[in-house]
Amino acid sequence: MPPSRARRLDGVVTTIFTEMTALAARTGSVNLGQGFPDRDGPPEVIARAVAALEGGANQYAPGPGVPALRAAVARHQERHYGLAVDPDTEVVVTTGCTEGIAAAVLGLVDPGDEVVVLEPYYDSYPAMIAFAGGVRRAVPLRAPDFRLDADELRAAVGPRTRMILLNTPHNPTGTVLTRAELEAVAAIAVEHDLVVVTDEVYEHLTFDGHRHLPIATLPGMAERTLTLSSAGKSYSFTGWKVGWATGPAPLVQALFAAKQWLTFTSGAPLQPAVATALDDFPDFPAGLARSLQERRDRLCAGLRAAGLEPHVPEATYFAATDISHLGWRSSLDFCRALPERAGVVAIPMEVFYDDPDAPGAGRQLVRWAFCKEESVIDEAVERLGRADLGA
Ligand code: GLN
Repeated sequence: MPPSRARRLDGVVTTIFTEMTALAARTGSVNLGQGFPDRDGPPEVIARAVAALEGGANQYAPGPGVPALRAAVARHQERHYGLAVDPDTEVVVTTGCTEGIAAAVLGLVDPGDEVVVLEPYYDSYPAMIAFAGGVRRAVPLRAPDFRLDADELRAAVGPRTRMILLNTPHNPTGTVLTRAELEAVAAIAVEHDLVVVTDEVYEHLTFDGHRHLPIATLPGMAERTLTLSSAGKSYSFTGWKVGWATGPAPLVQALFAAKQWLTFTSGAPLQPAVATALDDFPDFPAGLARSLQERRDRLCAGLRAAGLEPHVPEATYFAATDISHLGWRSSLDFCRALPERAGVVAIPMEVFYDDPDAPGAGRQLVRWAFCKEESVIDEAVERLGRADLGA
């Protein structure tokens, strides 16, 4: 028998989101695991996609993306952040932010290069760094506050460091990096001449007056930052897989050089629809954030009532709870048992750490999604309240 897997897949397991959504489907559980809304984005945007499908937008889109969407992305960066990007040379449309991350890492990281990531990390980051032959250096956001410690970041950077792969607002902790935290990142990036790739898909989904600040807006950063985002989270179209990268032409070109051999181009009929979303519904994400804040509060109150004290997030779709008082050693064990115990699915955060047993790390942290209808959240917390959650 030939070997069934390449060595680059060593340590690469089925993503936890696929595992947990399949578990929810198999057991008929309420899925508070994978982060996707159960209500779609604006119907007018869907109508635009239908019109594009029926109107002949069914062959390859231009490699960097359809001009209307690239222009809309440039206007979005200008409108929200005062960032000037050239739609022709400084924007590339990607197949979701996940492809943007893959293409950025494959296009910029050489074997042996070190990439600094915030920990807990979204699970595609270590996979892509491994594909590129890079080495990850994790900088912890420690429970209970999940703040970035500039000294720990500085300690993680060395002569082999090529890139800081940032994520703010941060999944799964809900931290929104402050100006001071971002200034510390920027100072280190400038000092060591690093590229910053920043995953900002939750840019608009912030709560309680917390505001997202793109690191590309800080002095000296526009020239070394690739900013990634998508329509999935801002417009509740996670299944469309339309994202984008913006930044200086040489970095965007590097990402594009890799992207063309991943998906070649991204879905043609969805791109004009996303342009419509960005241009004609600029206030939709803010409304979504207000509604998400209410649902965050609803879920957090329910978790508290069920004996699970939440870390109340500043942003994103997710709240985290500690389960150690229930006698569980492992969040993965807890989450695998939860469908049977309670008919609910959640995400074990221990899979997002190099060492989940380090102080303030996530061996016993569980992530719950609140980007769901109120009735779904209510059903989940009712089930949790009724269940025996002890180990
Ligand atoms: N970003 C989403 C989450 O954290 C899931 C994305 C995915 O499943 N790849 O739940």
